[in-house]
Amino acid sequence: MKPKQLLRVLFKAPVLGSDLFASSFSSQARFNQAPNPRVPIFRSSRNAGQVVSRLGGANKFEQTIDHLCQQKRLNDVLRLLESEVHQASATLYAPILQLCIEKRALDEGKRVHTRIRDSGFVPGIFISNKILQLYCKCGSIFDAQKVFDEMRERDGCSWNILISGYAHKGSLSDARNLFDKMPQKDNFSWTAMISGYVNNKEPENALELFRSMQRGAKFVNKFTISSALAASAAIQSLRLGKEIHGHIMRTGLDSDTVLWSALLDVYGKCGSVTEARCIFDRTVGKDIVSWTAMMDRYFGDGRWEEGLSLLFDFLRSGIRPNEYTFAGILNACANRAAEALGRQVHGHMMRIGFDPFSFAASALIHMYTKCGSVDCAHKVFTLLPEPDLVSWTTLINGYAQSGQPHEALELFDLLLISGKRPDHITFVGVLSACTHAGLVDKGLKYFYSITEEHGLNHTVDHYACVVDLLSRAGRFKEAEDMINTMPMKPDKFVWASLLGGCRIHGNHELAEQAGEALLLIEPENAATYVTLANIYAVAGKWSELEKVRKLMDERQVVKKPGMSWIDVQREVHSFVVGDQSHPRSKEIFNFLEEVSKRMKEEGYVPHTTYVLHDVEEEQKEQSLSYHSEKLAVAFGIISTPAGTPIKIFKNLRTCGDCHSAIKFISSIYGRKILVRDSSRFHCFDSGRCSCNDYW
Ligand code: ZN
Ligand code: ZN
Repeated sequence: MKPKQLLRVLFKAPVLGSDLFASSFSSQARFNQAPNPRVPIFRSSRNAGQVVSRLGGANKFEQTIDHLCQQKRLNDVLRLLESEVHQASATLYAPILQLCIEKRALDEGKRVHTRIRDSGFVPGIFISNKILQLYCKCGSIFDAQKVFDEMRERDGCSWNILISGYAHKGSLSDARNLFDKMPQKDNFSWTAMISGYVNNKEPENALELFRSMQRGAKFVNKFTISSALAASAAIQSLRLGKEIHGHIMRTGLDSDTVLWSALLDVYGKCGSVTEARCIFDRTVGKDIVSWTAMMDRYFGDGRWEEGLSLLFDFLRSGIRPNEYTFAGILNACANRAAEALGRQVHGHMMRIGFDPFSFAASALIHMYTKCGSVDCAHKVFTLLPEPDLVSWTTLINGYAQSGQPHEALELFDLLLISGKRPDHITFVGVLSACTHAGLVDKGLKYFYSITEEHGLNHTVDHYACVVDLLSRAGRFKEAEDMINTMPMKPDKFVWASLLGGCRIHGNHELAEQAGEALLLIEPENAATYVTLANIYAVAGKWSELEKVRKLMDERQVVKKPGMSWIDVQREVHSFVVGDQSHPRSKEIFNFLEEVSKRMKEEGYVPHTTYVLHDVEEEQKEQSLSYHSEKLAVAFGIISTPAGTPIKIFKNLRTCGDCHSAIKFISSIYGRKILVRDSSRFHCFDSGRCSCNDYW
């Protein structure tokens, strides 16, 4: 087939798929098919140039360019294009423009566009659409509009590309203007406009447009419907989803598996897990994607039993689970700290065998570290033939957070020896290991090595770590210098690190500054007010404390309720402060009373300054002893055999009083107690905590 014929076929060929850009990409892939085996693979453009002159002729030039494009060597393509005399043609420019689009290379694309203009070549619709697409994809909508205005001839594609371009930019009214003016709308026009509304959070308009499309009933097919469904899932609009569901039933499209999984997605993401399950049960020919999606919904919604029973159904179905199935379940276990279930999944993976190179392996490591079993994570890690950087980094971070900083740093040394190159996230783990170990100077050395030895740029997270390192050590002057000289704007984590250091060292002048900066960034975060208030309370600065409290009232900041949970025999038990809803609540409270007596005999003094409420001392003491983590610890002790280690998970940072109380409890009852709070792990054993009271 000659290029011209090919172009005509391509141009007329119906475009499938819901994404406009993706569809033209796939037609391009067909366009690029069947490379000429005689054309050698070039190592450099100079080499390529020589070969071109040897082969001679414009056609060979096109082939060379096409080949370089297939190898994605855009710079070489441009060098060749601008240095050799050649004949301009559509077959020459199409692959180059496509490569620019794929790479979102605006500057290079502009050079090609200039080249086309200078050559006197008048592009047809196909090439003009490519140029249009280039500018739209690169976000240069002004240039796109210019190209569109200059086009002598346009087709539906030209309109659709520009409509999508405007929609992507968020210029919905411009997109709608074009859409309304467009002479003949097709599927893609409707899809582009509807998803444009959805992506720009205008679901009402999307719904209105979808309805008017239904009234016309001309272009409603499974592609427009599935894009409308994907749209309603994205904005979690159950209403839109239900409406479309009705439409599917009415139009008899209800046997289509693609639509069923899109529907499943809508109901699942909108929180209607039960309805999602109904859809799931009715799906004919369930594939691995629908099974995985359904299980993810259950686990994501905390419906463990149902998720688990579905998992067993799935395993019985004979479909082989893939790494997404396992990774999804393991990540859910990690988030919920459901280690027992995670272990079960691990056992199953061992039985059926899993690819140790897959990301299910790193998900296992992630699960164990998140559940505070960093030793198990390490065991999995050592069994991997070639752990990827994610696994290394997860384990380094895991050691750093669970109070084993020296192991973290040792592992980092091994990583360097292995020849893998650490990335910026790895260094977050390394720096926090230094922070937890109090290795200030070593940490600073690592910090400077990031740019000097490893050729990476410092991220704002690195600065947050190093400010944390310095201010925990009480080196506030250096911490301030660091903040003042950092190349980017300090974010909330940087200020929160400084504030945390101020809390430990009772530096209330600097705390005020950090707190102010933090409140500017996120005035709604209760944690900042609470930390500031606690710093003032400890320092006895009551009028300042009053100011913070007033500010909190004025801004109507709501404290996120503290919640702790514990996994006992595969069941997750959660507690909030003073919680009496647990079936064994009476026993828990009786036990805590006994604990409180025994702790006082051992010399425990309640830190009443950690109570923010304006109440009498005795009452304060009482509300302290019913903090959620204490309730969870108490439940753990009464419901497990003596000596069993206890693991508690908390959504907020654990308070100072609970911290010292749990230290006492660990020694009185001879239990190892692990608490994962929002910032780190605390491993309590024989009256001590792994964090050395730094957190
Ligand atoms: Zn507490
Ligand atoms: Zn601790």
